[in-house]
Amino acid sequence: MSTSEVKARFGVLTVSDRCSSGQAIDSSGPAIVDTLLHTDQLGVVTGDVISRCVPDQVNAIQEVLREWADELGLSLILTTGGTGFSPRDVTPEATRPLIEKEAPGIVVAMVSKSLEVTPMAMLSRPVAGVRGNSLIVNLPGSKKGCVECLQFILPALPHALDLLSDNASAVTATHKSLCPHHHSKHLTDKKRDRSSFVPLTQRSRHSLYPLFPVDHALSLVLSHSHTLTTLTRPLHTTLDCVLNERMIASRPLPPWPASIKDGYAVLSSDGPGERQVLSGATAGEMPDCQVVSGFVSRITTGAPLPHGADAVVQVEDTELVEGEGDEERVVRILESVSPGTDVRAVGVDIAEGEEVLSGGVVLGPSELGLLASLGVTEVKVVATPTVAVLSTGNEVVSPGEELGPGQIYDSNRTSLLAAVRKAGATPLDLGIARDNRESLVEKLTEALSTADVVVTSGGVSMGEKDLLKPVLENDFQATIHFGRVLMKPGKPTTFATVDWRGVQKLVFALPGNPVSCTVTFHLFVLPALRKMAGHTHPHLPRITVKLGHPVTFDPRPEYHRASLDWSSGAPIATSTGSQCSSRLASMRSADLLLELPASSEGQRSMEKGDRVTALVIGKH
Ligand code: AMP
Ligand code: MG
Repeated sequence: MSTSEVKARFGVLTVSDRCSSGQAIDSSGPAIVDTLLHTDQLGVVTGDVISRCVPDQVNAIQEVLREWADELGLSLILTTGGTGFSPRDVTPEATRPLIEKEAPGIVVAMVSKSLEVTPMAMLSRPVAGVRGNSLIVNLPGSKKGCVECLQFILPALPHALDLLSDNASAVTATHKSLCPHHHSKHLTDKKRDRSSFVPLTQRSRHSLYPLFPVDHALSLVLSHSHTLTTLTRPLHTTLDCVLNERMIASRPLPPWPASIKDGYAVLSSDGPGERQVLSGATAGEMPDCQVVSGFVSRITTGAPLPHGADAVVQVEDTELVEGEGDEERVVRILESVSPGTDVRAVGVDIAEGEEVLSGGVVLGPSELGLLASLGVTEVKVVATPTVAVLSTGNEVVSPGEELGPGQIYDSNRTSLLAAVRKAGATPLDLGIARDNRESLVEKLTEALSTADVVVTSGGVSMGEKDLLKPVLENDFQATIHFGRVLMKPGKPTTFATVDWRGVQKLVFALPGNPVSCTVTFHLFVLPALRKMAGHTHPHLPRITVKLGHPVTFDPRPEYHRASLDWSSGAPIATSTGSQCSSRLASMRSADLLLELPASSEGQRSMEKGDRVTALVIGKH
C-alpha cells in the first residue's frame, strides 16, 4: 500500500537569547524534533526536520521564518520560546506580521488544554497561522510546555498540512479532478515509499504523486541547488563563467600619454605654421626625442607622446613642405590645437587601483578582453556543474545503429547534451538504460558517481515500464521532491535529491516525449544549473508579447512554443504549429514558451493582439 502524501518538511526554531549565545543548552527544540519523529500521524523521518536557534529579536526570528516559509516552503514551522510576558519575549510580535491567515483555533486548542494543566497557561501569548504554504505555530519555551502543546494540536496537523499542500497546487478543483485519489493518509516510514515494486495487476491506476504548480516545483528545485565551489582557471577557459573575486587594476591604462591619431606630436602653443620634423614615435617604442618650439615629431596611433609635446595634430591637417624618400624634413601645421588634443592621458581608460570587475559578473567576450588588457591570465570563477545525461527505454537506439522492430532513434540525449553544453555546464554522455531495474541502477550509479546533476529522460509516467521513480526511491534512497507538475507538456517531470557518499546530487527525471523533455529542461534544469554556476539571476528571461493569432487554453497551464517576430516593432509571437509533445519540430524554431493559463469558467482563449507573458528560450 502506498500513500499520496506530500513529502512534509518541518522546521523547529528555538528563540532564546541564552541558548543562542551558548549560555544555556537548548532542550526544547530537540524535544519538539523528537516528538515529530516519534509520532505516526505525520510520518516524519530524520532529514525532514531542520532546526535553528536565534536570540529574542524580531529581525532574527523573522529572517528565519521568511527563509523557511518563502524559500524552502516548509510545511510546518514550530517556534519555541519568547511567548511570555517578559520584556524580551517578542516571538508572537515577530510572527504576527508575517502571517497571512491566522489560525485562532490552534491557539485556542493549545491554551485551553494547557489551562487544564496549569493556570500559568494564561500567560502564554502564542500566534498561529498560515504564510504561503507553511503553517507557523508558536509553542511555549519550556520543554514540558512545548511538547504538551504540540501533542494537543497534533490530531489536526495532518489534515491541516494536507489542505495546505492542496493550496500549494493553487488549483484545488483541477487538481482533484485530475488526481481523484489524492486524499492522503499519512503513513509511517516503511509504508511511505509510493513507488515500491508491485505486481502488474496490483499497480495503482492513478499517480500517487501530488501535482505541484510550476512555481512551487521550481522553488523546490532552486532551494536544493547550491552554488558550487570556486576554482582558479586560465582566463581563456572562463567564457560565460561567474567571476568570484574583485578585479583591481594594478596599473593604469594607458600607462603613458598615448596618441589617438597618426600625425605629429606638437607643442600646442606653437599654433599653425612650418615646423622641422624630428624622428618619429611609433607604437611599441618609447620615443627618445624632445619636442621644443619650432619642431614636431611624427607619431602613430597608440605611440607614447614624446617629451615636450602636449598635443597631436592629425596627418590630414598638415602638408609636406620639404622632404625626400622616407625623410620628412619640414611640414606645415594647418590647424591650431589645444593642450591634450588627440592624446589619451595616463589611466583615462582604466585608473590604477580601480575595480574593473566585481564578483558575480558573468565573463563575456568584453569582460575577458578587459581582464586581458590588465595582463590577467587566471581568474577565480564559480565551478560549472557536470551533468550526466541518460536516456531510458527499451525502444530507443543510438543513431548509427540498426533500428529493430518497434524501435526509434534516441533524440533526447542529443538535445539534452547540447542544451547542457549551451548552458555552460559540462555534459557527460551516459548512453541508454533499458527499462529494467538492473540497467537503471547500473547507469544511475555511474551517473551519480561522476556528475553533480543527473538528467534522465523517459520512464517517469504511468506505464508498466516506468521504473525510474521506484528505482530512485528504493535503490538510491532518493528524496523525491515532486513527481508530477501541473503543466503541459511535462506533467510527469520528477525532481529528486540523492545523498551520494555524503554529497547531495540533483536528479531530474524528465518525461520521454522529446518536446516535454526539452521544455522541462528549460523550465527546471537550466535555472538549477545557472544557480549552481553562481548566476544571481538563474531564471529564464520573461517578456510580454502580443499574440499573432488566437489561442485556446488547455485544462493545464500550457507552455506553448512560439517564435518571436520583431519586424513590426512590437514583439509578436507566432505559434510553432501543432503542440503535440512528440513533435520535436514544434521546438525547432521556438524562441519563446508562452505562459498560457489553464482554461477556466471565465477564460478559455485569447485573441490575436492580446498580451501574454513568455519565457525566452531561443536566440538571446
Ligand atoms: P516515456 O516517458 O518513457 O513513457 O516515453 C514517452 C515517449 O517518448 C515514448 O513515445 C517514447 O518512445 C519517447 N521517448 C522516450 N525516450 C526517448 C528518447 N530518448 N528519444 C526520443 N523519444 C523518446
Ligand atoms: Mg519509456
